[in-house]
Amino acid sequence: MLIRKKDGLFYFQFHNLSQFPKVRHGIFTRHGGCSPKPFQSLNSSFSVGDDPVNVKRNRRSIADCFINKAHEGSMVYLKQIHSDQVRIFKHRSESNLSERPEITMKGDAVITELPHRYLLIQVADCQAVLFYDPVRHVVANVHSGWRGSVKNIIGKTVSFMKQHFMSNPKDIVAGIGPSLGPCCAEFVNYRSEIPENLLKYRTRSNYFDFWTVSRDQMKSEGIPGKNIETGNLCTRCRTDLFFSFRGEQSTGRFSGVIGILP
Ligand SMILES: [Zn+2]
Repeated sequence: MLIRKKDGLFYFQFHNLSQFPKVRHGIFTRHGGCSPKPFQSLNSSFSVGDDPVNVKRNRRSIADCFINKAHEGSMVYLKQIHSDQVRIFKHRSESNLSERPEITMKGDAVITELPHRYLLIQVADCQAVLFYDPVRHVVANVHSGWRGSVKNIIGKTVSFMKQHFMSNPKDIVAGIGPSLGPCCAEFVNYRSEIPENLLKYRTRSNYFDFWTVSRDQMKSEGIPGKNIETGNLCTRCRTDLFFSFRGEQSTGRFSGVIGILP
């Protein structure tokens, strides 16, 4: 991944998605926000106990990286519920967006073909998985933790892109954000939590490789392996850069964002 800096915020970008000038994306670190411990500092979640005033400021800082005053635009948030619900964002009427630049929908994946709609997923160990189809000019962002992996929300999202946007999976480019790596994804209760079809991803004793699970879920839908980039940064190992639920328990959520220009 590439590291960028804008207005005091650091974010990572995937090499593959960076090649497309009409895609804007970033995986933000935990730094550059205003929240105090244990949410230091760029926490974007209202549901972890942080002061909402700080969360709003942090969200504004992230939005400022994408929406400038000349561009009308909005951030699209999900009320994430560890489900396999895929949402399509298609509000065509723009009249009130400038007054209410944040939109929240319930679910764990969101797809849009509308320009200047920046889809944001919040995580701390779960994966934010970014997708772009350069032919149909469609983007998606997915929240996939281990429950999402079990429900294959990634495969379902790709399937929605094929079904609703005529995407050819061979064209789709994807990036798997920093998340719990095979080094730290220990599931002591895996016999009751992880279904039979995912047991082959067990790497040693109780540890699982959910990065490879996600890659395989994409490949099963027809996305070529060469189109998939894994961030290869483990959040639990890198709490200096990212929030980690396993590493810190009470902590914030960092943000993965993707959107398109017209
Ligand atoms: Zn690790």
